[in-house]
Amino acid sequence: MQFIETRGNDGVRAESVGFSEALLSPIASFGGIYSPDTLPEIDLEFLENHRFASYKSLALALLNLCEIEIVPTTLKQALDLYDRFDDASNPVPLVRAGDDLFVSELYHGPTRAFKDMALQPFGLLLSSLARQCDRQYLILVATSGDTGPAALETFRKRDNIRVVCLYPDGGTSDVQRLQMVTEDAANLKVIGIRGNFDDAQSALKALLSSAEFNRQLDHLNISLSAANSVNFGRIIFQIIYHVHAYLELVRQQAIALGDKVYLNIPSGNFGNALGAYYARKMGLPVERIIVSSNANNVLTEWIDTGIYDISDKALIATTSPAMDILKSSNVERILFDLFGQHRTRELMKQLDEKRCYRLEADELAQIQQIFTADFCSDEQGRAYIRSSFDQGYLIDPHTATCFKSWDTLDHEPLACIVASTAEWTKFSQVVNQAITGKTGEADLEALESISKAAHIEIPETIRALFSKPVCHNTVVDKSEIEAEILNFLRG
Ligand SMILES: *Cc1c(COP(=O)(O)O)cnc(C)c1O
Repeated sequence: MQFIETRGNDGVRAESVGFSEALLSPIASFGGIYSPDTLPEIDLEFLENHRFASYKSLALALLNLCEIEIVPTTLKQALDLYDRFDDASNPVPLVRAGDDLFVSELYHGPTRAFKDMALQPFGLLLSSLARQCDRQYLILVATSGDTGPAALETFRKRDNIRVVCLYPDGGTSDVQRLQMVTEDAANLKVIGIRGNFDDAQSALKALLSSAEFNRQLDHLNISLSAANSVNFGRIIFQIIYHVHAYLELVRQQAIALGDKVYLNIPSGNFGNALGAYYARKMGLPVERIIVSSNANNVLTEWIDTGIYDISDKALIATTSPAMDILKSSNVERILFDLFGQHRTRELMKQLDEKRCYRLEADELAQIQQIFTADFCSDEQGRAYIRSSFDQGYLIDPHTATCFKSWDTLDHEPLACIVASTAEWTKFSQVVNQAITGKTGEADLEALESISKAAHIEIPETIRALFSKPVCHNTVVDKSEIEAEILNFLRG
């Protein structure tokens, strides 16, 4: 698998790069990103041959089909990290939550959110590549709550990588903040920002384009990489679990091999949905991919009308904050894959300059062949958490948006697999309000309240957070971030 640039080539960069290069330096010409030039095929024979494969051996088979140039021992080490999930023999359980509704639980990793699915193996790969080329890399993360903990966890004590993580002080749940500020490794720095997530993100963007900051990094011999889902190194691991969930459904005899299913994805930056898109394109029998959103429903509008318009929209803070996004970065890879480099560059330019673009009718028809979409208000989300709880199954607010779309969208009588992205423990206040009606409690109280109401244990990793020593106390104004980072890098 080779990688080419979504917005075309500037004549300076290589025309195409291998997997390692796309991982280490994910930004391409004209502000584009790297996408695979071809995808391998998974036919029914492949699925039949892997009908009883473990998660890891399925993953290895799929990665081998992709022909990425990672040495087998490193790849094996990366996949062995799934052994640290709750059940090493099945890191991603599939649970039935209704007649035709199944949930692929992607959150059984160390930070209890689906970011671990990709970031765990990705962290090991990136560190190993950095060691091979004997360079030091800096990963800058601005987080609203889930990416930060998962990035810190995967890179802790890894060679040749340092991570600086910016979070909005007071803007995350207690659990999310504790997951970050209790990470004690010398290569990690966690900084709280006085401001909201947008402030943290724009501070980071300003830094990335600051000539002075980049000069300082050069001086320190440190290169920048990225751990967000513009990095294809994350996306590749997000194809696997969709295939796994399908085979799990076959194993549970809920479908026959070859039957079509819906994949239902709670979407923000569209990495998860992109993984589903690739799986479908490779040959997984998928009727359509359902893109579920919250009140920030740009993706719903895009799929329903072909118009991507954020010119008159402001970000709304919702109870599913990991999906509070206006500019969804991986949509670009869909445009590229369907309409090519030239058109992608044109559309992304319009989005950057006018904050709006409109697809042609035939383009929209292609999108609608593959995707369908719906969105969910916070209030509706709580109602779905409540009704699911009443039927004995606990879901988080992100997953709830998928339950809503499955309930209200027109669809064929087929099975639906919801990609569940977070454990209830990550968003306990919302879940607690939904099932007990109580508000205004701190996370620990909310966790205990849910635990009691649902007769379910609080996982030890979550409970332990509340008594772990805090080792990152830095909270600063935006103007102080650069100095903090350079201080850390020099230290
Ligand atoms: C990151 C995240 C999402 C959104 O995933 P994308 O791949 O960015 O679309 C949804 N839910 C949770 C809990 C997340 O952490």
